[in-house]
Amino acid sequence: MVRYVYDFTEGGREMTDLLGGKGANLAEMVRMGLPVPPGFTVTTQACQVYLATGEPPEDLAHQVAEHLAALEREAGRRLGQVDDPLLLSVRSGARFSMPGMMETILDIGLNDLSVLGLARTPGRERFAWDSYRRLVQMFGSTVMGVDGALFEDALALLKRERGAADDTRLDTCDLIRLVDVFKDLVLEHTGEEFPQDPVEQLERAVLAVSSSWNGERARIYRRREHIPDDLGTAVNIQAMVFGNYGSDSGSGVAFTRDPATGSPGVYGDYLPNAQGEDVVAGIRNTVPLQELEQLDPVSYNKLRGYLQQLESHYRDLCDIEFTIERGKLWMLQTRVGKRSAQAAFSIASQLADEALITPAEALGRVTGDGLARLMFPRFDTTAVGEPIAHGIPASPGAAVGAVVFDSAEAVRRAATGEKVILVRQETTPDDLPGMVAAQAVLTSRGGKTSHAAVVARGMGKVCVCGADGLTVDVRERQFTAQGVIVREGTLISVDGSLGAVHLGAAPLVDSAVMRYFETGGGLPGPGAQPVVRDVHRLLEQADTGRRLEVRANADTPEDAARARRFGAQGIGLCRTEHMFLGDRRGLVEAMILAGSDAEREKALAALLPLQREDFIGILAAMDGLPVTIRLLDPPLHEFLPDRTELAVRVAEYEALGKQPEARDVTLLAAVNRMHEENPMLGLRGVRLGLVVPGLVAMQVRAVAEAVVERKRIGGDPRAEIMVPLVDAVEELRLVRTEVERVLAEVSDASGIAVECPIGTMIELPRAALTAGRIAQDAQFFSFGTNDLTQTTWGFSRDDVEAAFFSAYLDKGIFQVSPFETIDREGVGRLVKMAVAEGRAARPDLKIGVCGEHGGDPDSVHFFHDAGLDYVSCSPFRVPVARLEAGRAALLEAAASDDK
Ligand code: ADP
Ligand code: MG
Ligand code: MG
Repeated sequence: MVRYVYDFTEGGREMTDLLGGKGANLAEMVRMGLPVPPGFTVTTQACQVYLATGEPPEDLAHQVAEHLAALEREAGRRLGQVDDPLLLSVRSGARFSMPGMMETILDIGLNDLSVLGLARTPGRERFAWDSYRRLVQMFGSTVMGVDGALFEDALALLKRERGAADDTRLDTCDLIRLVDVFKDLVLEHTGEEFPQDPVEQLERAVLAVSSSWNGERARIYRRREHIPDDLGTAVNIQAMVFGNYGSDSGSGVAFTRDPATGSPGVYGDYLPNAQGEDVVAGIRNTVPLQELEQLDPVSYNKLRGYLQQLESHYRDLCDIEFTIERGKLWMLQTRVGKRSAQAAFSIASQLADEALITPAEALGRVTGDGLARLMFPRFDTTAVGEPIAHGIPASPGAAVGAVVFDSAEAVRRAATGEKVILVRQETTPDDLPGMVAAQAVLTSRGGKTSHAAVVARGMGKVCVCGADGLTVDVRERQFTAQGVIVREGTLISVDGSLGAVHLGAAPLVDSAVMRYFETGGGLPGPGAQPVVRDVHRLLEQADTGRRLEVRANADTPEDAARARRFGAQGIGLCRTEHMFLGDRRGLVEAMILAGSDAEREKALAALLPLQREDFIGILAAMDGLPVTIRLLDPPLHEFLPDRTELAVRVAEYEALGKQPEARDVTLLAAVNRMHEENPMLGLRGVRLGLVVPGLVAMQVRAVAEAVVERKRIGGDPRAEIMVPLVDAVEELRLVRTEVERVLAEVSDASGIAVECPIGTMIELPRAALTAGRIAQDAQFFSFGTNDLTQTTWGFSRDDVEAAFFSAYLDKGIFQVSPFETIDREGVGRLVKMAVAEGRAARPDLKIGVCGEHGGDPDSVHFFHDAGLDYVSCSPFRVPVARLEAGRAALLEAAASDDK
């Protein structure tokens, strides 16, 4: 018989797959001896069975009953007993933390009789009825499917009638009335009475919480976070403890360090006289955790001790939920906490300093995406003036956008490409789509641990919360701050690092991390910002460990110089097409339109010195490092004027009975002759070189002469020549002969030996499939994964991305665009095959990648695993690739240690 239920005393943090994060960590806290209300966990496996078959596993009810009996014995109370009943919480909790995305039901076990038992103790009446109305509300909406807004409306109505500012002002009689109203709502909308049998309540709650795995918010969140859909959630059943007993009780959340900046210390929010979910929901304003020191010093000191204990045990930032019931502290949850990018770098360095983790582990705690975020610009604080509002800096970064007041509006506007900022009193999980669509989230309530803050941080979105000078009026679609009325659609700037809100679009300046790279990435001085020192240290660690080299894609001396400052070890892709644009267009046109060999040679001869100068500049900027120069790739008609424009011009002349310009007529004829239905699959790449005489020779001569020039003045040029879009080795062989001939000519003429390795791009499936043969004529391979993805999937990127990729993502055909992250299964398989066959044919074959994937963290890990020598990406992504290449090496080492 499969075991589906584990007591908290039986689990531990190594069991997250089975018990989910929440269950495993509750068990871990029990193991550490922390005060956790007793309970047990129904496994993710049970949920998987339920989701797959629609029925809970056969033996589940029995196993739950057994564990419940044990829990009742331990608590000395029974579920549903008439006096002082045991109450339960039924809590979701999956393998990966999905904060607030699934359901939890509290106070299970209350009914018309046991509420009286609970209320019998003097001073507990209000509490008892408050708990009962919460149960009917949560159970009614989550289990029985009544629209939650109906309960909220009824509650709001009663508060208005009573003139109550918040729900603590409602008295026992009000709450008794509210329970009736809620029960009526349930009956009216479901045709069923609120169930009175506690065991039925429990069983239905377990199934409803399991089903919340497939709720809309949970699905959206999983897609965003790339969490697989088939894991399922565990369900934790736990004795309730009560923070809503009165002023000696309360609930809170805490972090072992500041999750926004990484600074050490205790951070959190506390809400006296409240049940846990009130804290994050922002229903009332919380107080900073420090105030608990005055309110209840004993609990505060205990809590500090537990936080320390947890941080050294988990060796990482932890966040926790706790409740104080009449002066007794209970721990309700812990997990390794989400944090901003800045905090991730800071905490990793600090913990390494404290020797809690090794330097290598520190590297495992940061990500390339995080580093990229730290390179984003900030607002220029000297230019923005006084903010109109101040709040808590909950998730750093700078965002400018139009104010919107609800999720639907945010989604609607963002779909048209508008940048928006979602402004709410507080956010709830229902705001998730709007938060995804927005540049930033701004709330008037809630602390660093509010829903808005936690979710925004997880997404790397800018967030300022608890801006209490801000009055949000959703109905009027405006907010007021310092007397200024800001209506929907107005541009504002939100500074998530300082917690400031400005009217209008504030000017941006480079981040400190960006400045560090721009100035060469050397050892930061003592005055450097801490974040710069942390980045430097972790990048150094990555550079020491990584096996992949990192090069850059750069086409100009300026880009090459920047790439070098950012740590590139050469150029993996120097495109030559932009060199054919601008005022050189005329020469290119002349070459294309040439009526004779002589005319063409004249045009090419005019281009030669210009190209040579380009290459001299780039080789100088990358002196001593390899520069892979790709021969011309795009179809030639891209260099001619637009076909429609020309045709219209000619037609206009003709309509007026005039003679069109002779040049226009010639051009139009050429454009028409060269027109292609599918230029991506047409006359381009090596094909051009083979049919346009003299083109390859001119480009190679320019490279070779640039090399000679650089050598003459003592430089160390390392040009490599790369042939694009090769399908068959024969194409490469023909071009190669031509390249070698020109190199030899220039060597002979100058008396300086020019040796350039000659290689090819692997960017067509046929090239990958015949890589063994191609390697016989190529000294290096460079995977052009953009074209390889297009041609493997049969996607024309420009056509498909906008047309149907979002539908494909929705339908789960892929989790992420294959143009963003390499498709390991398909394209990746071709890469691996080509590496194996290429190296078999030529063991010293140098292999790299120069598609945009070279700067994508996940893809970098794949290229590491596939055994490539280098990745090449845009200069700005070079630090990201360095960091991720270091992490990939580290993960590989860790995996082999495990074996
Ligand atoms: P989430 O995953 O959304 O945080 P939780 O399962 O942690 O959901 O529960 C929601 C709220 O209910 C939390 O604030 C938590 O503190 C509170 N809660 C859960 N279990 C108990 C319990 N046994 N006693 C008191 N409060 C609880
Ligand atoms: Mg929780
Ligand atoms: Mg290409």
